[in-house]
Amino acid sequence: MIRDIIIIGAGPAGLTAGIYTRSRKMSTLILDAASAGGQLISLYPDKGIHNYPGFAEIQAKKLSERLMAHAESMGCEILESFRAMRIEQGEECFIVRGEKEEFRSRSVIVAIGMGLFKPRKLGVPGEECLHRRGVDYVLPEKDSLVDKHVVMIGGGNSALEMAIIADSVADTTLVHRRDCFRADESVVEALDRSGVRRFLETNIVSINGDEKVESVTLDCGGELVELPADYVIINIGTTPDLEDLKEWGLELDADGLLCVDSDMKTSRPGVFGCGDVVIYPGKYRQIVTACGEAATAANSAYKFVKKPYWA
Ligand code: NAP
Repeated sequence: MIRDIIIIGAGPAGLTAGIYTRSRKMSTLILDAASAGGQLISLYPDKGIHNYPGFAEIQAKKLSERLMAHAESMGCEILESFRAMRIEQGEECFIVRGEKEEFRSRSVIVAIGMGLFKPRKLGVPGEECLHRRGVDYVLPEKDSLVDKHVVMIGGGNSALEMAIIADSVADTTLVHRRDCFRADESVVEALDRSGVRRFLETNIVSINGDEKVESVTLDCGGELVELPADYVIINIGTTPDLEDLKEWGLELDADGLLCVDSDMKTSRPGVFGCGDVVIYPGKYRQIVTACGEAATAANSAYKFVKKPYWA
């Protein structure tokens, strides 16, 4: 069986691409190495999203459920726990090969987000040996934070939003190396309204504890301060783990991201890309831009497969 399209990745970009290919009645299979939902589920399921149009606020998990329900109602087949290892060239089709199974299609959209992305490490004493013993890179379940001391590190949207969530149940301190934040102004305003304590222009010297985290030592402009801590959550960005992508015969940039043009075409005819994995001049990593790119990728794939008279 040869489908019209295989979409690799079932995050917001992949699911949106599926909604669009199904509106063109293309037979569509969406594969995901883990669970559908992408970063909405794996990184921040409980977080409120405030900039997805049509929802003043929606929980990440809820948005992913809605996207999935929408894609399924349009007739997308979604297969989870399928890791695409290779995209081979078959006879007038692509063969997407997994560990045990393979699927064929006339076109492919790569929407693997940050892949099985890795959190960026701080590189301070105590980080490695206390990992999962108080040091973490995602916010633990809210229940485990109740009445604890949480130290959040970072100045981007993720760190501020996680600090605000932690603050609803825990004594929370945010530590950032600059005197201002990278996060959106609206997120900074929400932080201002919260009870999160801040240390700006401050670096982490060490994370301390024997069996588990007990404190952190901060360097506040030359003055060393020791803060009690049960959890140290490091939220200083992620580095993509896109090893699989290297095997797919596609042009990547120096950071390993997938190069696409304004039609979301990759270097390989019939293979398109969208979402966090792609790079082009002016790229802005947001859910809504990933969805916009997905619509373009789906339209380009439709033109490639169906060759309509107007294209
Ligand atoms: P990010 O925006 O790259 O921010 C990372 C933060 O960590 C920066 O403040 C950076 O400091 C700090 N940092 C990096 N390396 C550090 C180090 N070695 N020591 C100390 N601090 C360090 O990462 P993110 O917050 O994970 O967000 C990733 C992307 O997703 C962004 O484009 C973001 O806008 C987007 N996002 C959007 C939303 C939303 O729209 N609501 C929510 C989450 C994420 P400097 O500022 O000094 O470089």
